[in-house]
Order: sequence, then structure tokens, then C-alpha cells
Amino acid sequence: MTLDDLRGQEQAVGILRRALERGRLAHALIFAGPSGVGKRTAAHALAAALLCREAPGRGCGSCEDCHLVATQAHPDLVLEDLERAREEKPTATRLSIDQMRRVRSRLAMRGVRGERKVGIIDQAELLTIDAQNALLKTLEEPPGKTALLLICPHPDALLSTIRSRCQCVRFAPLEKGILTEILIGEGVEAESAESAAALAEGSLDRARTLTADDGLAYTRELRDKLGALPGTSIPHLLDLAAELAGPRGEKGRARQQLNRAVTLDWCRDHLLDAARAVGTPPEDETDEPHEGLDELRRALQRAEIAYATTREFERNANAHLAWDRLLLGLRGAR
Ligand SMILES: [Zn+2]
Repeated sequence: MTLDDLRGQEQAVGILRRALERGRLAHALIFAGPSGVGKRTAAHALAAALLCREAPGRGCGSCEDCHLVATQAHPDLVLEDLERAREEKPTATRLSIDQMRRVRSRLAMRGVRGERKVGIIDQAELLTIDAQNALLKTLEEPPGKTALLLICPHPDALLSTIRSRCQCVRFAPLEKGILTEILIGEGVEAESAESAAALAEGSLDRARTLTADDGLAYTRELRDKLGALPGTSIPHLLDLAAELAGPRGEKGRARQQLNRAVTLDWCRDHLLDAARAVGTPPEDETDEPHEGLDELRRALQRAEIAYATTREFERNANAHLAWDRLLLGLRGAR
């Protein structure tokens, strides 16, 4: 994968390509924007462009350097993310100061295959304050020919001292048509591709999750479970929370995002339905107008709970606890 292969992010890619052509790429960059739109792919493509010696500044996509970057095995590419934090400490929910010290010391070493070194910090929003301060040292005195790429949906999660030392490149949600084309190109049937693209809110990860493992049916099932929450026993509800918080790994991350997105969608749809019902005059005299208002109040309460929990997820609070609270809140809304 080279920068040229990245679909639907012409603006961000244009900024990177021009900087590469002029040899003026910033030492440190933040790739910002919603999840699943290609920030990680772009970071790896940029790393390939920097480390490829066949087509320097562009990446050829087929040499050994490019191949090693693609398989995350290039000795001059340093990667840190939550998965790596969990290899050391399985319960980790943040990126640690040790990880940032490791980035610093590895970037300071001589390159193994060439002169350049690249560091990618994925999920940078999960850096602890200590870890951010450790990272700051690397940003203040960037070692030789290095580039540091921070992938972070919301740069506000980073200290202003970090942000001010990085160039921020924004990635936009992908257009529906592009999502559909990509999915069809990956062998998904046109009809499923279109349905998934419509539900994906610009995220390729989410669109892929929807088409893989019958994600569209999974989405319908989850919405049914949310609808049945008021009649669900607490033990069942806690099981469901564990299930929704559970999946890990690269695929798990996409599924977790899907779970949150479906829940938010469900609350939003519920709110719109309730608002519409209140706005529509009763069909006959026997309809009690209070019924609709009560439902609207409940829907509002549910939406508030869901949005508040979304912020918790973004701050990476304990996902399991957050789901417990969210489902209990949705169940108890009255
Ligand atoms: Zn190459």
C-alpha cells in the first residue's frame, strides 16, 4: 500500500505528498479524524514512502523495505499501541511511559537498513500524562532523520505542548460512494456493500465489519436486544455488557466501535421516533397525549446517557464498566 493507493483522502494525501516532494515533511505529525477512515493505513504508507529505497519519498509498494513496513516487521519502524501495552500488561488501558521511552531510545539508534527511522504511535489519545511528557522530550529534540506519526482521532486529548510541536493532518469521513466501491472491489455483493456503506458513517472499518461475519444481521440483532432491555434481567444485562465490551485485537476494535455506533444510532432513532410521535396529532380521541410525552422523555434520557458514555469510551474509561452503566441507564430510563 502506497499513498497513491489510499482512496477518498485526497486532501490529506496531497498535503503529505507535497511535503515529501519538497523534502519538508515535519518531524512530527498528528493524523486526526474519525476512526476507520484510513489514518493507520496512511501512516504505514507514509512510513513506506520514507523507508523505501527504490522510490524514496513515494514508496514503490513492492521492494523489501515496503514489504517489511506492510508486515510491521521493518527494523527501522517503531510501533506502539494499546495491543503492545497489553503484551506487557494484559489489563492495560493506556499507553505507558515505558512505551514512549522505548520509542525514544529506538529512534535514537542508527538505522538498520537505511538512515531513516519512523515511529508510529497509534491510539495516541490513550497516552498517560507521564507518557506524553516522556514523548515531549523526543519532540523537543527529534533525533536525526526521524519522523514521528501520532494517530489520534481527537488531538484535544493531547497536551497543548505536544500539539504545538506537531503538524496536524486531518482525515475526513469517507464518502458513501467510495465506501461502496471499495467494498465491491473487495468482493462484497453490491446490495450488501450499499447497505453497509449507508450505515458506516464514513468509516471503512465499520463498513467492513458490517459486511464481514454477517455484520448487518448482527446489527439488527443488537438493536433488538437494546429494544428488549426494559424487560431484561440484571444478570442477562451484565452478560450483554461483557459481550459488548469484550472483543479484542484488530477485528475486536472494529466490533467494539460498531457496538457503540449501533447503540448511539439506536438511541438517536428512538429519540426521532418519539419526537415524531409527539409531533403527530392523535388519530382518535382515545389516544392519551401524555403517553407520547413520557416516551419522548425516556428517549431523551437514553440519548443523554448514551452520549455521556460515548465520551467515557473516548477517554478510554474501563469499557466493561462503561457498558454496565450504559445498559443499566438505558434499561432504567423512565
Ligand atoms: Zn519500496
